[in-house]
Amino acid sequence: MNTISADESNGYILIVDDQPNNLRLLSTTLTNAGYKVKNAISAQMALVGIQAALPELILLDIMMPDLNGYELCQQLKASPETQNIPVIFLSALDDEDSKLKAFEFGGVDYITKPFQVKEVLARVQNQLTIVRQQQKLAQQNIQLQQLNVELARSNKDLEEFAYIASHDLRSPLQTMKAFAYLLDQKYQGLLDNKADRYITRIVQATNRMEQLIQDLLNYSRVGTNTIQFKQTDCNKVVAEVLINLQAAINVSGAVITYDKLPIVRGNATQLEQLFQNLIGNGIKFRRPDIPVEVKISVEERKKNVSLSSSSIQESEERSEWLFGIHDNGIGIEPQYFDRIFQVFQRLHTIEEYPGTGIGLAIAKKIVDRHQGEIWLESSLDLGTTFYFTIPV
Ligand code: ADP
Repeated sequence: MNTISADESNGYILIVDDQPNNLRLLSTTLTNAGYKVKNAISAQMALVGIQAALPELILLDIMMPDLNGYELCQQLKASPETQNIPVIFLSALDDEDSKLKAFEFGGVDYITKPFQVKEVLARVQNQLTIVRQQQKLAQQNIQLQQLNVELARSNKDLEEFAYIASHDLRSPLQTMKAFAYLLDQKYQGLLDNKADRYITRIVQATNRMEQLIQDLLNYSRVGTNTIQFKQTDCNKVVAEVLINLQAAINVSGAVITYDKLPIVRGNATQLEQLFQNLIGNGIKFRRPDIPVEVKISVEERKKNVSLSSSSIQESEERSEWLFGIHDNGIGIEPQYFDRIFQVFQRLHTIEEYPGTGIGLAIAKKIVDRHQGEIWLESSLDLGTTFYFTIPV
């Protein structure tokens, strides 16, 4: 089906009325105002006209022989092709029931005869503005969806590349590491000091590369679809994390406290990794001479979620868990808040604080996978709080 093209300022309007005088008057008024107008003297003729070209707006008389305005409107609303064309009813019936019925049958507005020219023009313009805005929104929605698909595809490609590259790099790296270790063990002291230092540097570099590859592999694995989601007790998850971090806790003397945590729908391994990265950072980025404290808080809160599938803006209230990992460490300056969630982005040298710069990127990906959000608040030399949400 075609659409008659109309200028940006105008629109194509179909007028349906069985009284030729009314048709003529309306048609002249709207044509003079710059609209493209087609007339139909009956509902049947209107259907033929709509078949030929979809109007942007229909002005529809109610009382017509055979098919009346209500019935025609009902037919149009039942067809996917015509259901979005706004219908303004025209009628000499000025009672409340007739007007209500017009809206029940799918009309968007109602004009009472005899017409006031200015009123007709204002109502027509109003509906056309709404139509155009809806069309624009729908268009933008389609573009956004396409962009999303492309983004997801390129992310997936990147993940696959990271997975393959890191997987395949492991084997030659193991060989290098093994021979560097042998050199270190067998020839320590037999070569000169310089050679010993070089060997030590090779061993250190291979260890670091191994850590980087391992973290990159972890990062690319977060996105795989094979991961199972089930009811997971966060108390157990954090208890496990504290065992894993025991060495760091002992060295730093950190005191870790946590509220009673909820059971959430998630993947236990990923949640463990998430808590471990955030608590681990809270311990690692500590201030010297300040007793390390890391506190895990949680609260349930309501959130308004907009339902994007509908062209009309609708929203729904949902509950989510808001977790907070609070530390009293070195803090982060606000200009780095976004950057640190990207892969390999670090604010310190390895000598100052060890690490690969992948921990927060993994944390973000895990939270994304759990349909939550992650962000932080921080003050330099006071501490940092990482917040993340998980739907209830
Ligand atoms: P890594 O810890 O391996 O460096 P992350 O991705 O976990 O990598 O963190 C990225 C950077 O963000 C860190 O290098 C550090 O500069 C900063 N950062 C993360 N967590 C904290 C924290 N709790 N306090 C201060 N700085 C932090």
